[in-house]
Amino acid sequence: MRKKGLLIVISGPSGAGKGTICKLLLEENPHIKASISATTRKPRQGEVDGINYFFIDTDAFKNMIQEDELLEYAKVYDNFYGTPKKYVLDNLEAGNDVLLEIDIDGALQIKEKFNEGVFVFILPPSLEELKNRIINRGTETMEDINKRYSSALKEINQVIKYDYAIVNDNVEGAIQDIEAILRAEGCRVIRQ
Ligand code: 5GP
Repeated sequence: MRKKGLLIVISGPSGAGKGTICKLLLEENPHIKASISATTRKPRQGEVDGINYFFIDTDAFKNMIQEDELLEYAKVYDNFYGTPKKYVLDNLEAGNDVLLEIDIDGALQIKEKFNEGVFVFILPPSLEELKNRIINRGTETMEDINKRYSSALKEINQVIKYDYAIVNDNVEGAIQDIEAILRAEGCRVIRQ
């Protein structure tokens, strides 16, 4: 009996494959709108401003915080990341589902602010596979890789704070699981 859109929050450690899952989920479900985050991180090869992220400098980011333009923000691996508020709220109000792919700190902030939302955590099939995926991405230095791996281990313990956990040993299977969750959420009589 829901009129407002559903806020879908997806988190998971670096290397769990959440980026690929979200990309395909969005391609297969054009009614879901992706929030584009602002970040102070430098673009990686192939990333485009306004598509992957809004790439801004620290002053501009702090200005967004001051102007209350962010729904949540967090510092992840020495860079700031945040969700621009207006796009998300406008779409939810218009009845569109909105997907946020954000870190755990940010997800918990969203959980505090909203009574609604479905929180999904993506797990890697194993820790060994996780490390291989971080290394094989090839976009980070060894220092970054180690930083991401050790924080991934800590992040996995936070799965308990989410509504659902999905093990990504098969991307299509993981997407089907998320679609099943969204279908079930759409049938809820009373949302909390
Ligand atoms: P990456 O640098 O690999 O694109 O992202 C690093 C981490 O930042 C990922 O865990 C990603 O989910 C998270 N992230 C991306 N956008 C946001 C955001 O708007 N807010 C928060 N809190 N985390 C974000």
